[in-house]
Amino acid sequence: MIPQIITIDGPAGAGKSTTARRVAEALGFVYIDTGAMYRAVTLAVLRQGIELTDAAVTRLVQTLNVELHHGPDGQHTFLNGEDVSLHIRSAAVTNAVSAVSALPGVRRALVEIQRRIGRQGGVVMDGRDIGSVVFPEADVKIYLVADVDERVRRRLAEVQLRGEQVSEAVIRHQIVERDRLDSSRADSPLVRPQGAIDVDTTCLTIDAQVQRILDIVGEHRTV
Ligand code: C5P
Repeated sequence: MIPQIITIDGPAGAGKSTTARRVAEALGFVYIDTGAMYRAVTLAVLRQGIELTDAAVTRLVQTLNVELHHGPDGQHTFLNGEDVSLHIRSAAVTNAVSAVSALPGVRRALVEIQRRIGRQGGVVMDGRDIGSVVFPEADVKIYLVADVDERVRRRLAEVQLRGEQVSEAVIRHQIVERDRLDSSRADSPLVRPQGAIDVDTTCLTIDAQVQRILDIVGEHRTV
């Protein structure tokens, strides 16, 4: 039997979302981008000017409906029925998301949704705590890493493709700072999950990353 839950964790810019989406497509699985969920909550916090305390943001989260839908052009993120897929990639959201994600009430609410989706099986889920906290019992857990210089180069290419003018220094600062906050928070920090298989993507093309993970999944296949 093919493993039903594949988790992909790692630092910012390691190639998680592109790889996870392609692996899901190849297996006929659903791709769940949990970072998009944390970003949607962050967008709501910024729009409503909510104070960054666990109590205030937890109250807000209970009024939010965060959904991921999959269309022919990829995954779309909805916040209370509004397609916020572009808004959640803004610099304002990127700079605030780690602080919002560190709040235990936010994590509790989103992890519950992620577990509900994952239990249906046939998912590739990427994030920071998927193999360590959300699905520690998953059959295949990947820890995706890459050199910081390579991660900066990829992120820069990505934002330039969206027509944004951002300097390399700003991107580097965002990545390093986000990794520092995500790895040092008390609740569900970014760690290499126990039993995870390391995949270093520094010198790998997207095709090679996808193939490497499909090979790992193939090796876990049981009869
Ligand atoms: O994956 P992405 O870079 O879009 O994630 C944005 C942010 O969401 C991360 O920097 C992290 O703060 C938070 N996140 C998290 N746990 C996850 C996924 C993302 O805390 N499982």
